[in-house]
Amino acid sequence: MEFGLTDEQAALQRVAREFVSDVAPPKQAKEWDEQGVFPAELAHGFAELGWYALPFPESWGGGGGPIELAILAEELGRSSLDVAMTYIGTLIPSLTIFEWGSESQRKALRARLDSGEFRYAVSMSEPDSGSDSASLRTSAKDMGDHYLVNGQKMWCTGAGVPGTQLVMYVRTSVHERRHSGISLLLIDPRTEGLELRQTSTLARHILGTYEVYLQDVVVPKDRLIGPEGEGWKVMLSNLETERVLMSGAYVGVAQATLDDMLSYAQDRKQFGRPIGNFQALAHALADLQTEIDAARLLAHRAAWMLSKGLPCAREGAMAKLKGSETYVQAARLGMQVMAGHGFATESVMSYRWRESIVAPISGGTSQIQRNGIARSMGLKPY
Ligand SMILES: Cc1cc2nc3c(=O)[nH]c(=O)nc-3n(C[C@H](O)[C@H](O)[C@H](O)COP(=O)(O)OP(=O)(O)OC[C@H]3O[C@@H](n4cnc5c(N)ncnc54)[C@H](O)[C@@H]3O)c2cc1C
Repeated sequence: MEFGLTDEQAALQRVAREFVSDVAPPKQAKEWDEQGVFPAELAHGFAELGWYALPFPESWGGGGGPIELAILAEELGRSSLDVAMTYIGTLIPSLTIFEWGSESQRKALRARLDSGEFRYAVSMSEPDSGSDSASLRTSAKDMGDHYLVNGQKMWCTGAGVPGTQLVMYVRTSVHERRHSGISLLLIDPRTEGLELRQTSTLARHILGTYEVYLQDVVVPKDRLIGPEGEGWKVMLSNLETERVLMSGAYVGVAQATLDDMLSYAQDRKQFGRPIGNFQALAHALADLQTEIDAARLLAHRAAWMLSKGLPCAREGAMAKLKGSETYVQAARLGMQVMAGHGFATESVMSYRWRESIVAPISGGTSQIQRNGIARSMGLKPY
C-alpha cells in the first residue's frame, strides 16, 4: 500500500497551489463571484500550464491520469468550487470528445487544448428532468443533413461564458427503454433559435447557470458526438472521472475552509484565551479534519481504482457523497466558529457557506449517490 505522492505529483501539487495563491486566492474568487465575472486569466493559466492536456496521451502533451487529476482538482478547490469547475466543466466534455468524437472533432479539440479560448458546458438537465436524467425530452429531429432541435434545458453551467460550446444531450428517438434514443450534440449557443437566460442563484456566479431555450435550432449532422441514440453510454463513459475530479475539488475547498477557521480560532481571544482552546471548538475542528481526511482517502481510492482500470462506480459515488457533504459540514462549522464575523458578507466564510449548499445537489444529489451505493450492496432503494 502506498499513500505518498511521486516527485511529479508533488511538483504538480506545488505548482497548482502557487497558481491558486497568485491568481485565484479565495478572496479573489469571492470578488469574481460577487461581480459575476468569468476571469479569462484562469482559463489561459490552465492552458499555459498544460492542464487541459493533462489526462490525454503524451503525444497530445498529456500523460497524467486520475490521481493527478484528483491532486490538481483539490488544489483548485482551495480557491473555490466555482474556480475548480472552470477547469472540470471543460475537461470532462473534452475527454468525451476525445473518446467518442470523429477524427475531425478530435483534431479540432487537439488544436484548442493549448489555448484558453475554448470552453464547454454540459447541458443535460431540463425543467422536468433533474435526478431522472433519462426522462429528458428536448428533441432533435433528423432532417437529412442536419437535426432540428426543440425544447428547454436548465442549469447549464457556464453556457453564457464567451467561447463556450454546449455539449447537449437530446432525444433523437423515443423507445420503451428510456436510456435508448438519447444523443449528444455540440451546439454553438449563438445559433439562430437558441436563447440563454441566466438563473439567479445563491452562488456559482463565476460560471453562471443558464436556462437554454431551443426553437427549431439547426445543428449540422457533423456535430453529433458518438453514435446516434447511444448518448447515455457516452455520458456514463466519463462519470467516474468526473466524480474523481469533483471529489478532489470538494476536499480542497473543505480543507481551505477548515484552514481558515483554524487560524481564526487560534487568533481570536475570548475569556482571555484563543477560542480554539475551548474544548467544544477544539473537538469540532478535530472531528472535521478527520472527516476531510476520510473524504480525501475516498477520493484517492476512487482515483487509484480508475487509474488501474478497475470498476469503481460505487467508490466514485462514495467519494462524491462524502466530499460534497463534508464541504457543507465545514462551511457550517466555519460560520459557527467565526460567529458574527462569518455572518458578515465580507467574510470568505459567508461565500463558502453560500457555495457549499450546491455541492450535494449538482452532479447528482446525495440521495442519488446513496441509491447507487445501496444498489451495489444488493438493495433496491426505490
Ligand atoms: C448550481 C447548479 C449547477 C448545475 N449544473 C448543471 C450542468 O452544468 N448541467 C446539467 O445538465 N445540470 C446541471 N445542474 C442540475 C443538477 O444536476 C440537478 O439539479 C440535480 O441532478 C438534481 O435535479 P433537480 O434539481 O431537478 O432535483 P430533483 O431531481 O427534482 O430532486 C429533488 C429532491 O428529490 C430527491 N430525489 C429525486 N429522485 C430521488 C430518488 N430516486 N431517491 C431519493 N431521492 C430522490 C433529490 O435527491 C432531491 O433531494 C446544476 C444544478 C445546480 C443547482
